[in-house]
Amino acid sequence: MSERLTIVIAAFNEADNLPLLHPRIAAVLDSLAHDPAGNDLDAQVLYVDDGSSDDTWRVMQQLAASDRRVAVLRLSRNFGKELALTAGLDRVEEGGALILDADGQDPPELIPQFVAKWREGYDDVHGTRLEREGEGWIKRSTAHAFYRVIGRLSRTPIPADTGDFRLLSPRALAALQQLRERHRFMKGLFGWVGFNSVAIPYHRAPRAAGHSKFNFWRLWNLALEGITSFSTAPLRLATYLGLLTALTAFVYGTAVILKALFWGDPVAGWPTMMSVILFLGGVQLIALGVIGEYLGRLYDESKQRPLYLVDTWQPAAGVSSGQA
Ligand code: UDP
Ligand code: MG
Repeated sequence: MSERLTIVIAAFNEADNLPLLHPRIAAVLDSLAHDPAGNDLDAQVLYVDDGSSDDTWRVMQQLAASDRRVAVLRLSRNFGKELALTAGLDRVEEGGALILDADGQDPPELIPQFVAKWREGYDDVHGTRLEREGEGWIKRSTAHAFYRVIGRLSRTPIPADTGDFRLLSPRALAALQQLRERHRFMKGLFGWVGFNSVAIPYHRAPRAAGHSKFNFWRLWNLALEGITSFSTAPLRLATYLGLLTALTAFVYGTAVILKALFWGDPVAGWPTMMSVILFLGGVQLIALGVIGEYLGRLYDESKQRPLYLVDTWQPAAGVSSGQA
């Protein structure tokens, strides 16, 4: 029996990487199409152009013209990786899906291992990085801290050091397709879906060409997205912070009143007053900011806009029929 698998690849300005990546994928798919054990895999590749400003779209069309297994999807502008992946996954109507980065950091040569785990019955096979080559210690340590924080705050299991290199079974994919929230923290969404998951440790290679689109600021925002989408703990923290300061203020206020009653109050205490006002003001602003983060996301959800807009959709010309 042959199974269906779609490799979904989001690319933003990856014109230099795609010609290097595609032959590697094609070679793997060829070997999977005619499995000696008779488990043929009917695989195709879906490239999503996330509003690239370089030659990426032209390169994708060339790939589609030369390989009948290639489907291409172009979004109307740059929506960001998470939405580009969503757009790609939405187009997978049959079989499982495997997500891969366009820059060659996730080795396509591992696809057979993912497929083998899928055949064992796992619904979510994800790659975990053994080490992070070509990434400085700042990125490594902040990533580590992030996974610890979110692991503590969120009730949804989010495995550490796991990117989007992942295979989803048809039912896990169908579940994911039902999650239509705008603020998409994919790692969390995969965790929310659940089912049987298994990790495949792998060495994450450095980028083949170009440089990462995720600078420190974008990663910080992604971390905020992850925390606010999967935890309301910061809101509760604000409440506790407020309670704590109110309690301290009450105790201190009582002390001040008693002191004035028994010993009188020559006008003094400007420094204490200033520090109390500034401290309380600061705490209030922080709490307001936290509430604002959630309110802003609520506002975005309430607008009910489509998640992304498609410019061009070109399905694969034909999938190799996979006769042995
Ligand atoms: N990507 C995308 N849209 C964006 C930014 C990135 O589709 O707005 C793609 C990019 O082309 C690559 C993947 O997401 O295939 C991972 O991006 P990158 O290599 O920059 O991130 P890193 O590997 O450093 O986490
Ligand atoms: Mg990369």
